[in-house]
Formats: sequence, structure tokens, C-alpha cells
Amino acid sequence: MAEAVADQPAKVVSEAHGVDTFHPPQKMFEKHPSKPHISNLEEYRQLYKESITKPHQFWGRKARELLSWSRDFQTVHSGSFEHGDNAWFVEGQLNASYNCVDRHAHADPNRVAIIYEADDPADGRNVTYGELLREVSRTAWVLKQMGVRKGDTVAIYLPMIPEAIIAILACSRIGAIHSVIFAGFSSDSLRDRVTDAGSKVVITTDEGKRGGKLIGTKKIVDDALKQCPDVSHVLVYKRTGSEIPWTEGRDYWWHEEVEKWPAYISPEPVNSEDPLFLLYTSGSTGKPKGVLHSTGGYLLGCAMTGKYVFDIHPGDRYFCGGDVGWITGHSYVVYAPLLLGVTTVVFEGTPAYPNFSRYWDIIEKHKVTQFYVAPTALRLLKRAGDEHVKAQMKDLRVLGSVGEPIAAEIWKWYFEVVGHEEAHVVDTYWQTETGSNVICPLGGVTPTKPGSASLPFFGIEPAIIDPVSGEEIHGNDVEGVLAFKQPWPSMARTVYGAHKRYMDTYLNVYKGYYFTGDGAGRDHEGFYWIRGRVDDVVNVSGHRLSTAEIEAALIEHHSVAEAAVVGVADELTGQAVNAFVAVKAGQEANDALRKELIMQVRRSIGPFAAPKAVYIVPDMPKTRSGKIMRRVLRKILAGEEDQLGDITTLSDPTIVERIIASVHAAK
Ligand code: ATP
Ligand code: MG
Repeated sequence: MAEAVADQPAKVVSEAHGVDTFHPPQKMFEKHPSKPHISNLEEYRQLYKESITKPHQFWGRKARELLSWSRDFQTVHSGSFEHGDNAWFVEGQLNASYNCVDRHAHADPNRVAIIYEADDPADGRNVTYGELLREVSRTAWVLKQMGVRKGDTVAIYLPMIPEAIIAILACSRIGAIHSVIFAGFSSDSLRDRVTDAGSKVVITTDEGKRGGKLIGTKKIVDDALKQCPDVSHVLVYKRTGSEIPWTEGRDYWWHEEVEKWPAYISPEPVNSEDPLFLLYTSGSTGKPKGVLHSTGGYLLGCAMTGKYVFDIHPGDRYFCGGDVGWITGHSYVVYAPLLLGVTTVVFEGTPAYPNFSRYWDIIEKHKVTQFYVAPTALRLLKRAGDEHVKAQMKDLRVLGSVGEPIAAEIWKWYFEVVGHEEAHVVDTYWQTETGSNVICPLGGVTPTKPGSASLPFFGIEPAIIDPVSGEEIHGNDVEGVLAFKQPWPSMARTVYGAHKRYMDTYLNVYKGYYFTGDGAGRDHEGFYWIRGRVDDVVNVSGHRLSTAEIEAALIEHHSVAEAAVVGVADELTGQAVNAFVAVKAGQEANDALRKELIMQVRRSIGPFAAPKAVYIVPDMPKTRSGKIMRRVLRKILAGEEDQLGDITTLSDPTIVERIIASVHAAK
């Protein structure tokens, strides 16, 4: 593999395997404010080796380099996977909001911390680090006065507005645990999460605004709180000024409360292992888990990946399209950019409003340097047509992808059409539970292959395990399930109030390993390919087929917008591949297309992977974070439509009925 990355052409083809390898494009270096923090792949390999063989030395150094501690630590790490008691920077004390705000406000109070891009492109404002410090302090006073103490949880049900970040940092300033609940959730989901976390204070808005539509946020909160008798205070930010229901003595206006308090409150130092936040997973595979992250290790994971994966440098303008209601928003809208003292874009709207150019217009307008989004959004925008991508986006250096495997077709579109072959595409694999990116290229350093999340981040020692024997498979060119062999600082510490579930889901499955729940392959060069969830793997006549790979083959067809593959029981082959496909607007869905799609998979992967049935459906069942919920499709095909399980995290529950109708019509 080439080491002098900067001298490489943008793309070389690895003949033997037919997979394209892309080097960080030369143009990226030409527009760089200086140069990537790491000079080449060789330096990555050396540092990586140190992080694995001498983790205490490596992480101790990085923790002191990237974070400010009010009390230093002596023990870098203690505990083990076996006991589920991992702790990092044990004696250390620090404060998250101090690290995200004060440090930069002192150095340069006028630097822009937040660019707020409102739903309506004509609205919006900037918040400087100096202002952020004042706003966070005032809000922290308000929470304190409402009785919030260190270790209490505070529920935050806010849309993507600067106040979401202010609320998060205000909690951390006084040592409270923030529990952000995605503002698209129904009142029942909100109620369950407020109850599970035992939150007594809820922060929300009168209404939300998204894609030109108003959302009755406060009304949803009121419905939820009918069954949450322990909630004593609701702090309401006035976003639209509409008439809303009000409960005297419980509800308080944000703007009235913050005015009463001074513009500074000193940050409360917390122990490194004190919890920073609680966050529920997407619920793709079942009941959402309340994942708990602690302070020191999590912050370090964010700062490290922000710096090395996204190549963040002073003066950068970072735009992550993820919502603060998901881990991507926590780590990469809030913590990574603010810890590193750069500008983060907070976008309230949707990529389709007022038209499909919205992301690109934002990137152009604010001279965004790094952009980070999920493949589901890219599929939507590619489907809408290239004519919407008119913006030049000259400042883009890194284009990130997260949340699902990205099909090669979509990857290439991102690189060519969005990035003009001038930005480095980084496909980042990670989970709510890992806290920050774990398998990912380093921006400007790691050569990439479309569809592969590439190489492990510092401190991550992946293992491919044979799911049948439970044994680790060594060497390259291997397939199995993905696990990690060593603890890393930003790993989740527990599932809130359910440590046994935590142990059983992640640490007791393969003793001595952290189990991700995802299938993966390691290719001949040691690159990792995430195949999707283990539950989603299809086993046809003993071939373990990756749903992601078959879906990628289907998406290559010009008519296909989205594809999802599941396995169904089959007398002959054990399982058979069944595919669900949504076609692009104006494309005809008929038997000829079904045949073409089956041929496409045969050609691209092999006859054994060819779908036995192809269902054309209006859309896929997706979680609110945009992931395809394959378990719903499996249940529909199995005729178990009454046993769909928890589907409260579906973004559009009515889609289930429409898919069922399409399937019945086809059968
Ligand atoms: P739940 O755990 O409740 O089922 P979830 O796993 O979807 O929900 P998240 O923590 O948001 O919740 O998502 C993590 C999962 O997303 C990973 O385990 C993996 O399956 C998938 N994923 C994330 N990034 C990538 C990526 N770059 N490539 C492939 N898969 C990815
Ligand atoms: Mg998960």
C-alpha cells in the first residue's frame, strides 16, 4: 500500500480484486489550511500500534493534550470487559462545558461557535463562544434553581436550534446528566424515556419548525407528562410564539427565566467516570437501550475523532446533518467541534426544503469544510437528481458518511457529484455504544475503498469471530461477526438501570470481547467491510450472505432508489433471499424490472445470492434516524404481521400497512 499519500493519483484500481482504491485527492491538500495532523499512513500505523500495545501511555498523553482537567489523573484505565467495570482517567476531574466553551471563550470570545441555519433559509443567526458561555451559564442557573443537582437527569426535547446545545452544556456545567429525546418522537415514546431516566425537569419549545411545517412540541410534552407525575418543571423556549397550553407552577418560559440570572456560573468539576449523558439507541433491532456515557473518556473520543477522522483545524466550519437526538448529533454536532474550538452548523430543517439543494446551499453559504451525513439522506438526494447539486462547495475537505453501510454507487456519487473529487470521503462505522467513530479512515491520510469503513481508529482492536464456534478468526480475507478486544475510552459504561442487559448484549456474548452485533469482513489488505447486523445476515445453502452487499448490487440498477434484503425460511436452502425495492419517480415497476434486478445480483455477486422474490414497495420502513428496519420486513414475509415488536421508533408507521398491501398484491 502506498505511503506517500499526497503524491498519489486520486484513484488506483487494485486489479486482483476489482475494487477501486481512492487516495485522498491532491486537491484536498491544495485547499488545506496547513496539512493533516498525521503525515501519512505509516505514521498512523505507528501511532495505532502504540495505542494497542501501550494504551496507558497513548491515552494518558492524548487525554492531557486534548482536554483540560481541573484535577489530573494517575490511573489511565482500570477494569475489564469480563467484569464490565471499565474506568478511564480514574482520579481525574473535569467539566464538559468548560472544555467545550470556556477555553475558547477566554482565548477568542468573538469566534463563532454555532451557525444556526433555521428551517426558513432567510432566518438564522450566529452564536459566538463568548455568547455561548453567557447563555450556558444563565441556563445552568435556571436548572439549578429548579432543583437540578449533580447526577440528576434532565430530559431535553428540543428541535435543532442553538438552545439544544445550550441546554446540553448547561446540564453538564452543573454535573447533571442530559437525556436528549429526539423531538420527532411521539408522546408515548417521550413518556417512556422520561420515566425510564427518572427526569424531573423537561426542556422543550412551544413549537418546532421543520420542512416548512409546524410541530406542536409543547402539546406532545403535555400529553406525555400526563403520565409522568414526578416532573416538576418544564422550561419552554419560545420558537414560534403560537398559543400553547400552559400549566401554571410547572411551565416556565426560557427567556423570562434566564434574564433573572448572572452571565457566569463556575463549572462544577466532576469525576472522569461521572455520567455525562444518557441516550436511547435507534431501536433498529428491538427495544431501544438507554446507553450511558461517562465524562472523560467520551469527551476524549469525540476530540480525537474530530481531530483525526475529520481533520478539524482551527477556523474550520463543520456541518453534521445528524440530529442532536441521536448519537451522531451528540458527538459530531455538539462535542467534537466545540471541544476543538471550531464552528458547528446547527441545521433545523430537512435536506428537501425548500428544495433538494438545501444542504449544498448551506455548505456553499457558510464555506463548510467538513460535512457529515447518513447514506439515507444521500440516497434521497441522489434520487432527486444531479441538477440540484449546483453549488461548487469549494471549501469541502472531508465528506463523512454514518449510520448504515454506504453502497458503492452512493459513495461514488458523494465523491464525484458533491465533492467534485476534491474532498476525502470517510465512511465511519460506530454505534451509540461506542461513543465515537471506531472503524474509519483518517481524513487526508487513509486510502479508501467505496463500501469499506477501512481501518480501526486508535485504541480499537477489532476481531472477526466465527459465530458458530465463537472462536476468533485470524489473518486476512476472513468473514464473521465483529468484536473488539480491548476497552477504549468512549465506550458506553452501562445501559441505564439495566447493567445485566448491558453485559448480556455486549460483553457476555463472547467472553473477553465487546460484541458489536454487526457482521463484517476483513479483506486481503486488512480493510473492514461492515455487512450489517448479525440478525440481518441471510444464510443460503450454507453461504452467509451480507444484506448490505446484495442491497448495494440492487442499487446499482438505474431504476432503484432504495433496497432492503431479508432472509426467509426456505425448505431447500435453509433461507432464501427476498428483496424489497423502491423505484425512482417515473420508473415502472413490472415483472421485467424484477427479472432485471435478479439478473443484476446474479452478475454482480453470484447465482446463490439472487433474490427468490422481489417486492416493489412505496418506501422502506425506516427508523427516525433513517435506518431500514429489516426485522419488520422479515415479520411481514413470515406472515407475523401481528408480532412486529416495538415499532414506535419508525419514522412513518403507516408505511407498514402499505408494504403489507404491496406484498399481498404480489403474492
Ligand atoms: P438498536 O441498537 O436500538 O437496534 P441502532 O443499532 O440502529 O439501534 P445506533 O447506535 O444509532 O442504533 O446505530 C449503530 C449501528 O448502525 C451499527 O451497529 C451498525 O449496524 C450501523 N452503522 C453505523 N455506521 C455504519 C457504517 N459506517 N457502515 C455500516 N453500518 C453502520
Ligand atoms: Mg445497535
